Amino acid sequence: MDKIDIRSMDENELIGFLNELSQPKFRANQLFKWLQQGIDDFDEMTNIPKNLRDILKEKCYIAKAEIVKKFVSKIDGTVKYVFELFDGECVESVVMKYEHGYTICISTQVGCRMGCSFCASGIDGLYRNLTPSEMLAQITTAQRDNNIRISNVVMMGMGEPLDNFDNSVKFLKLVSNDNGLNIGLRHISLSTSGVVSRIKDLKDYNFPITLSISLHAPNDEIRSSMMRVNKKWGVDELLSACREYQKVTARRISFEYALIENVNDSDACADELAKRLRGIMCHVNLIPANPVKENSFKKPDMNRIIHFKERLIKNGINATVRRTLGADIDASCGQLRRKVKEENVCENLQSN
Ligand code: SAH
Ligand code: SF4
Repeated sequence: MDKIDIRSMDENELIGFLNELSQPKFRANQLFKWLQQGIDDFDEMTNIPKNLRDILKEKCYIAKAEIVKKFVSKIDGTVKYVFELFDGECVESVVMKYEHGYTICISTQVGCRMGCSFCASGIDGLYRNLTPSEMLAQITTAQRDNNIRISNVVMMGMGEPLDNFDNSVKFLKLVSNDNGLNIGLRHISLSTSGVVSRIKDLKDYNFPITLSISLHAPNDEIRSSMMRVNKKWGVDELLSACREYQKVTARRISFEYALIENVNDSDACADELAKRLRGIMCHVNLIPANPVKENSFKKPDMNRIIHFKERLIKNGINATVRRTLGADIDASCGQLRRKVKEENVCENLQSN
């Protein structure tokens, strides 16, 4: 029998579920708080009667993220985790310390089917979507393990959040609930490779999150050579969806641009990028591309990166180079999981 994923339920759903069990409404609020605030075991829910806990154990499961590997940077304390999920699949998360508090980068899928050429997460395709509860569990486990409160979330780990749209939206609602982790939507960024149809759907929710677009190139020729998704929705279509999104949400959009030597780092690219972004209230995040073992591209040297940034700024575009955190435990998006998989740490991954 399939058990119910109770941590993915909102309070109304819990009320309905408990009603079917002839339980009073107020239990939903108690249960919601325990589940959302990170209690992984029904027996720790001290204000829930034992007989109800037993029924819940029989009918439901609490999604967890269990630590399989953990790397702590000696330079800046950044922590990278490989978490194991209930079925033995693994995902990565990273906890970073900034002046304003702790930020976690969470995964939204196991693997990814978008197939961007520079990214390790997509090499083996998509295994499965994460549930809202599995996105939450990455945060609660990391909080507990470090004894901290995480104040910011970026959905920038493994996977394409807009390819797992309903679960990502549900996660946003749960994580910002004031009976739950209560992380404000203004403190959350969602990064997408540019699934235009879903950017349009997300706009209708009018969440005050930061939308982050992995643009990486100023035109279709270069972008299509790096990102398959661009063959479906080209740069023009993507940027016009961004303009529409901004009209509704009035939020600044962040554009990610991973610089790869001799691919997208020329002056002409900087000029074209500035021209295309004109009129969008935005910020460009320049990322020195992280080399991936399975690939041969290189990041430009720092002078080139600074020059690119300054050329954007001269053209009126807000731009910064992303600070590198955890350089000594470096493994870009998806790489850590692949390494763990090769070492056969996760049971289920052995047979894949
Ligand atoms: N799928 C979403 C979010 C996860 S990827 C997206 O693509 O936006 C998070 C970010 O890491 C994206 O901006 C992605 O383009 C970037 N990224 C992936 N591999 C990288 C690499 N090797 N070097 C630099 N950035 C990379
Ligand atoms: Fe998927 Fe994002 Fe990696 Fe592209 S960059 S393969 S969309 S995780």
